[in-house]
Amino acid sequence: MRKLDWSARGRARVYALTVLGTAVCIAVAFVVDSFSFETWTWRWGSDPHNNVIIPLLLAPLFFYLLLNKMRQLSIAHHELAHLAATDSLTSLLNRRAFTEVVEGYIQKMAASSKRQTDALLVIDVDHFKAINDHFGHDIGDEALKQIADAICAGLKEPDLAGRLGGEEFGVFLTTKTPERVAATAEQMRLCVRDIAFAPDGSNHRLTISIGGVIFDDCPTFQELYRQADEQLYFAKRSGRDRVKLSSRHPASRPA
Ligand code: GH3
Ligand code: MG
Ligand code: MG
Repeated sequence: MRKLDWSARGRARVYALTVLGTAVCIAVAFVVDSFSFETWTWRWGSDPHNNVIIPLLLAPLFFYLLLNKMRQLSIAHHELAHLAATDSLTSLLNRRAFTEVVEGYIQKMAASSKRQTDALLVIDVDHFKAINDHFGHDIGDEALKQIADAICAGLKEPDLAGRLGGEEFGVFLTTKTPERVAATAEQMRLCVRDIAFAPDGSNHRLTISIGGVIFDDCPTFQELYRQADEQLYFAKRSGRDRVKLSSRHPASRPA
């Protein structure tokens, strides 16, 4: 059986509140018509049927129109929030949304006594400018979409991926051993190498470099990003198409 959607975007709430609102209007009409505030006693009003008929004619329409408009506003608000958080080219989270979600996650961890190992990866496409120069910006965009899909292929919720800007992506891996982080990053690298990218008929290999930081404390996003970016720099310097990871050393943690 389909579950009823009681959220502000669901119809169930509109119908339920319309019925409830109408019932309240009928009850209020009865009280106003039948209760004497002078003698503080109940009596039958002049025409008790009116207490049901008039609210029944007016209230459902009023409540339905009002609540349905609120539902439409809520849907529009949800869609706008989704658009504001999404990168239009790859449909991944954009930089702001990715940063906010990771920061929120770290703050939640800091507030709880739970300690686990998470990782932030920063991924940059190798020699991407050459792809644009060679095939044009539109084909470059196509390559970025395929790379985004390949990066996400091995991820499972609650892992997150975002486009941090240009040809740079971020991945946040939660509750993973360092070995699992290394294996996931390596799988992403290989998955991108396997993309069949042949805009002119012959295959052109796409590659990425990955820098990452593994941590079990509660640093700021900026600290994590800086350390992951440093590893990315090492990956680029040592030839590209590789993964470099570091673990947050106790000395780098705030006291
Ligand atoms: P490296 O291996 O050192 O990272 O070299 P690179 O060529 O990838 O790096 P560079 O920073 O020199 O070039 C990045 C290029 O990415 C330049 C820019 O035109 C391109 N780019 C950034 N955003 C987009 C985009 O949305 N679409 C396309 N098609 N290209 C983009
Ligand atoms: Mg690049
Ligand atoms: Mg770059």
